[in-house]
Amino acid sequence: MYKRVLLKLSGEALSSKDHAFDPQVLRKLAQEIKEVHDTGVELAIVVGGGNFIRGKVCEEMGLERTQADNMGMLATVINALAVQNALEQIGVPTRVQTAISMNKVAEPYILRKCLRHLEKGRVVIFGAGTGNPYFSTDTTAALRASEIKADVILMAKNGVDGVYSADPKIVSDAVKYEKLTYLELINKNLHVMDVTATSMCMDNNVDLIVFNMNKEGNILKAVKGEVDGTTISK
Ligand code: UDP
Repeated sequence: MYKRVLLKLSGEALSSKDHAFDPQVLRKLAQEIKEVHDTGVELAIVVGGGNFIRGKVCEEMGLERTQADNMGMLATVINALAVQNALEQIGVPTRVQTAISMNKVAEPYILRKCLRHLEKGRVVIFGAGTGNPYFSTDTTAALRASEIKADVILMAKNGVDGVYSADPKIVSDAVKYEKLTYLELINKNLHVMDVTATSMCMDNNVDLIVFNMNKEGNILKAVKGEVDGTTISK
């Protein structure tokens, strides 16, 4: 069982068909996270913002990229607060730390403070990505996991239970990989996360588990190293 994990949740993980974020989805997710927290594992979470805004998509629609990315980072803060609220409603102690200072709603990201929270059993939720445009929250996960020296990044995917040779929804004989190296991921052009995030994980020797978060109990299984997914390492 891992001791300190970083869970990456995309913005879509909080959404449903009709709502950008859905309180019912959040409640279910929070319950699963509580089960993980109850085991005593130290847990940090990076949330995405793709359920609201993706900088690159906005750029294609004519927005200036830096501005669009700033909007995207603010979207991740909305999600971070939503996850915090759902967790605190069921008694899980949390702190939100943001890479862009906004003292009235959350703490600024300070590594030492973050480590103290983790040691005290608080779930730390990172908002505002890296605080820089042109990055993603996958890269944020790689960066924060390196900084807090997490044992592993748990990359929770919506409805996909690992990394496949091709999109299993389109290619019927797509093969699922149990284990991969980061180099294989790049060479095979497998789209798990962007290249910046991939190289960051590779350079800093951070392991990653890709798994399906829609299967009940899977987050806990992933923490125990028992989930049916794909493990990627250096
Ligand atoms: N973003 C950014 N810098 C970061 C992290 C995120 O500019 O360090 C912006 C970027 O526009 C991105 C958006 O925030 O598209 C939402 O994050 P992401 O797309 O990674 O969310 P996810 O796909 O995980 O929901």
